Amino acid sequence: MINSKRLLLAFSFITTSIFLQAQLTVNQARLEKRIMDLAQFGIQENGQTERVAFSDADLAAQQWVISQLKEMGLETHIDFAGNVIGIRKGTDPSKKPISFGSHIDRVPNGGNYDGCVGSMAAIEVLMILNENKIQTKHPLEIIIFSNEEGGVMGSRAIAGHLGKKALPIVNSTGYSMAEGIMRLGGDTTRITEVARKKDEIAAFLELHIEQGGTLEKEDIQIGIVEGIVGLAWWEVEFTGFANHAGTTPMNARQDALLAAAKFIVAVNEVTSSFEGAQVGTVGKIKAEPGAPNVIPGKVVTSLEIRDLSLEMIEKVYEAIKTRAKEIAKASNVQIELRPLDTTADPAIMTAAIQDEIASSASQLGLTTKRMPSGAGHDAQDMALIAPTGMIFIPSKGGISHSPKEFSSATDMANGANVLLNTILSLDKNLD
Ligand SMILES: [Zn+2]
Repeated sequence: MINSKRLLLAFSFITTSIFLQAQLTVNQARLEKRIMDLAQFGIQENGQTERVAFSDADLAAQQWVISQLKEMGLETHIDFAGNVIGIRKGTDPSKKPISFGSHIDRVPNGGNYDGCVGSMAAIEVLMILNENKIQTKHPLEIIIFSNEEGGVMGSRAIAGHLGKKALPIVNSTGYSMAEGIMRLGGDTTRITEVARKKDEIAAFLELHIEQGGTLEKEDIQIGIVEGIVGLAWWEVEFTGFANHAGTTPMNARQDALLAAAKFIVAVNEVTSSFEGAQVGTVGKIKAEPGAPNVIPGKVVTSLEIRDLSLEMIEKVYEAIKTRAKEIAKASNVQIELRPLDTTADPAIMTAAIQDEIASSASQLGLTTKRMPSGAGHDAQDMALIAPTGMIFIPSKGGISHSPKEFSSATDMANGANVLLNTILSLDKNLD
């Protein structure tokens, strides 16, 4: 009995090992080197890299990527929005492409991994397929999106909703979006031609660093993104009465700043009082008249709430509003909450793609966690036109948009392996 159990255990161990070995994996050292090579574009004397969209460094990096795609035999071009597109033909001409990629532009004073990991891993995945002479049924399309950090420009154009209003916006390079698109090799007069219809892409995948500290803290290798949170903004105005700080007794004051202080505490308490990953923030405050010897008569603050569900945002907002009314009454101050135009709907990642990512990760023996993304990504716009999934890898210390940003070579390779194997399983399982 014991022997047969042992035998069974041994057998299952062997089959598991064979199963694990059967997974195709990327070349970790080559992926890491490519990340470091990319970091050379825009490198400064202090050793840090600056590569804001439309800068000379951004253009040079774009050309470097194009030369690699061409070398791999991909049909490569720059679309009218300045995105780099490379196509690897599939064996079945009736199939729509499986697309994947990320961005190589950076925020000012940014790091080497945000966007770069997903972009360089996409190239590595294609190299591995070439080296192993693996043909997919679906065409594979790599997309390196233009100007992600300045308003997810390239992916918005592909999703068909890059507004004309965005084009005059100037970034830190001094170029407007319109000028930047032309610099990258796009054409603003034909930008609407870049938009894809809803059924043109079979699936879209983006590998990205988490930019938060959850995966590292919980010691998990792969994050499966459930969606990118939506956000809503309000302007909150507190109207009291500006009066002499020396002569007005404490019990006769209408102190707008004191009410605002109570409101800020309330936002934190109320947001935390619900189950879930929702976040609420007061990030801006202005008090008038702003003198040490005058009781503040008017205060304006911001209010931002983010969550994967619009209902949750609404629920938290209603609870904050109730508390605001109580604070207004108790402080003898008027509080008005005005919704601002700056809202973004949550972008939900496709459940079936999340499952494919989960099974690829588990077949590679990697630990996973389903989680929301608190930051915006190109995938949020791609989700409007294609079944979409996102793979996260840990960010050291949860630091991002900083030169201190770091993800280990092992974590990058784990993410690239999940990307590679998810592409292969989607190729098998998708129409
Ligand atoms: Zn990014």
